[in-house]
Amino acid sequence: MKIVAFHQNGQPGVGLVSADLQQVQPFDLPLAQRELGALSLIEAQARGESLPALLAAVAISDIQIIAPLPKPRRNIFCVGKNYFEHAKEFAGSGFDSSAKSGGDIPADPIIFTKVPESVVGPGATVEMPAASTAIDYEAELAVIIGRGGKGISAKDAMDHVWGYTIVNDITARDWQSRHQQWFMGKSFDTFCPMGPWLVSADELDGTKTRVRGYVNGELRQNASTTDLIFDIPKLIETLSAGITLYPGDVIATGTPVGVGIGFKPPKYLKAGDVVRVEIDGIGSLENPVR
Ligand code: MG
Repeated sequence: MKIVAFHQNGQPGVGLVSADLQQVQPFDLPLAQRELGALSLIEAQARGESLPALLAAVAISDIQIIAPLPKPRRNIFCVGKNYFEHAKEFAGSGFDSSAKSGGDIPADPIIFTKVPESVVGPGATVEMPAASTAIDYEAELAVIIGRGGKGISAKDAMDHVWGYTIVNDITARDWQSRHQQWFMGKSFDTFCPMGPWLVSADELDGTKTRVRGYVNGELRQNASTTDLIFDIPKLIETLSAGITLYPGDVIATGTPVGVGIGFKPPKYLKAGDVVRVEIDGIGSLENPVR
């Protein structure tokens, strides 16, 4: 199933997207839960409860789609340098404060986070702050945790995956380099476009899908998640070894080769650009830059 969060007539809603993507059936939920997008549905399913009743369908053209988890319960977990060719382009860019000579391919997953308030939905403007002159895009598959847990083994990890969505891990490269960590330059307001909806794991195998990134219609990134250095089970095993994972947690799995910093000279985002991320089995996430 596909679960979408939206606004209609100024009211938040959460609904089930029809197979032809033309209609949405809203779930009958109290306002406080609708404001959190799909979160309460994932939590209910993790408790073994069935989904709430569905209301009359509305045309998808009559709603404004927002991020499926517009207010994640905590930071978005993200993975750095998780595709071989991207790890090389980033280490070679001179902006990678974590790179050691000959050590461009990490031996263990590199994890950082983005603040939940950086999340915006499809079509929302990515705002270029005056504080940075090097804003970049990163097309990524994001894993949504269903049943939480701690000490989850790689063998059992996929049983904890609710499903997937698309994230664009927008990054201020100058801040990423200058401050010797990735948190601030990844967490600026509007730097986490997410959507257009969540797709459940029974509908999509995220371990074998294709991720593409476009700027103004030009294909820049195009890779399969089979090429991840650390696959989804390994990421869940690593994260949950010391940190309890909760239903609705988001793990952005890393970006393939072709980000702006990989070009010589770099192709940073500029006002007026439109960035689109496509993932087979999910759809596309498009955001203008201003
Ligand atoms: Mg990233």
